Amino acid sequence: MTRLLVASRNAKKLAELRRVLDAAGVSGLELVSLADVPEYPEAPETGATFEENALAKARDGFAATGLPCVADDSGLSVDALNGMPGVLSARWAGVRGARRDKDEANFRLLLAQLADVPADRRGAAFVSACALVSAAGETVVRGEWPGIIAPGPRGSGGFGYDPVFVPVGSDRSAAELSPAEKDAASHRGRALAALVPALGALNRVC
Ligand code: IMP
Repeated sequence: MTRLLVASRNAKKLAELRRVLDAAGVSGLELVSLADVPEYPEAPETGATFEENALAKARDGFAATGLPCVADDSGLSVDALNGMPGVLSARWAGVRGARRDKDEANFRLLLAQLADVPADRRGAAFVSACALVSAAGETVVRGEWPGIIAPGPRGSGGFGYDPVFVPVGSDRSAAELSPAEKDAASHRGRALAALVPALGALNRVC
């Protein structure tokens, strides 16, 4: 078994990677989270791109533990805002406090910014960059989930900007999809799937 550090404390992210690996038939990897390794200083997310942030997190994890490390960074890129909120997605409205309050403030601000933008110019995409750093080298991949920003929020599932994001080909917002439906289409699922060849190769070099 090769131990793979997932640079996250979010059990859902570990479970999602487990499902992707199982579906791809990648065996021999034991996933460990940040909660399972001695604490180390984590650099703040100051990169200009999702890729930079993901790579910095994966490099930190590998340097601190010696374990191959996978990390991700994600957010929403809105065409009419020239790609913003982008890497600032989590703190777009500048609100501190409970995640629910931050999420709601973020999507309300986005809706206000797009209030006068017509339907045909409301394109957006959720983006996820995933990085893998190990003794074998560095791999960075990107997954995108295209859609549009709805005129108002719908649904109560998911998190973040899900209530205002309607994926291409869907008539429901991401917050109205079941977790399984979201998993199958999402930016994170697509990025993790793109990382599978590099993850599969870990067993052969570690
Ligand atoms: P992080 O990569 O977990 O730090 O996520 C960054 C931010 O991007 C989150 O706080 C959300 O605002 C937004 N975001 C990322 N992925 C999603 C998603 O799947 N749905 C809704 N919002 C998301």
